[in-house]
Amino acid sequence: MSDLRKDLVSGDWIIMAPERAKRPSEFFPEKRARNILPKEQCPFDDLAKSGNLPMYIGAPDEKSWKAAVVPNKFPALTHSDVCATMVQDGLFEHVEGHGQHDLLIFREHEKGIDAIPRNDVIMAFEALQKRYLMLAKDKCLVYTSAFFNWGPSAGASLHHPHIQILTLPIMPPSILHSLVHSRNYWQKHKRCVHCDILAYEEKEKVRIVCESERAIAVAPYASRHPFGVTVYPKAHLPSFEATGRDDLAAVVDMLQSCLGKMKRNINDPDLNFFIHTAPLKSKKTYTHYHWHMEVLPKISIPAGFELSTGVLINVVPPETAAAMLRR
Ligand SMILES: [Zn+2]
Ligand SMILES: [Zn+2]
Repeated sequence: MSDLRKDLVSGDWIIMAPERAKRPSEFFPEKRARNILPKEQCPFDDLAKSGNLPMYIGAPDEKSWKAAVVPNKFPALTHSDVCATMVQDGLFEHVEGHGQHDLLIFREHEKGIDAIPRNDVIMAFEALQKRYLMLAKDKCLVYTSAFFNWGPSAGASLHHPHIQILTLPIMPPSILHSLVHSRNYWQKHKRCVHCDILAYEEKEKVRIVCESERAIAVAPYASRHPFGVTVYPKAHLPSFEATGRDDLAAVVDMLQSCLGKMKRNINDPDLNFFIHTAPLKSKKTYTHYHWHMEVLPKISIPAGFELSTGVLINVVPPETAAAMLRR
């Protein structure tokens, strides 16, 4: 039987329709070919040669970096010292493309993040935290989205592992939605919605993919995509960049573990992951928030129904997904 599930945080509706994936092979799309450039031609191996400089952050240092934060040569938004303002454009409104678009580049040329040494990945996420703190000082910028595209179908134009860091002068609608809904829950119940979800999932057990003392990975009850997993620090922490090393390392371990499970158990899909955290400023306003990372394998493509209604159809219920990933 298919089933309509409501997301407790966003209020979105998701249709769970396992009958639509009758053949087990539909769970595992054909392995996608990743077009890996030879190292000599890869722009992320020699940053000076490819013009991907200046280096804002080199970790552990600029010379022997394992992770580097640099400007994107092809930015979606460009930076200026003047804050963008809303301008009337006839009937419409627009804001100039003021923002910042950076890249966090791993030294590793080919392997996925699951296979990069743990300490290098932790160091990369610490560099990302530093970049968030630098961006928070810019009075014009409102929200930073850090996201990872892996494989052509997930939007990666270059294979070399890198995280994009796009900072906006406006609040993205889906983040605003999530912040408002979690604040409403906080005001009503005097508790964090994500902490409540985690306590519930610990009791139910069926949707937990893996966990440690400080972090947990869950296939969400109203999972939007087949095999989607959310990774949380167990402690109630509103912002990614203010998270201490032990909690951050625990989340990184959980992320690497989830990526490894996806590689081994569901045929190494293309995927995206991203961070959802509190906005850059007014941290006191967002004490109700609980930052997390969402990992979304690229298994289904939104079609007419999804585009017309915003309601997604997921053919792999999270209980099935968690059991298959746990193997
Ligand atoms: Zn490379
Ligand atoms: Zn919480």
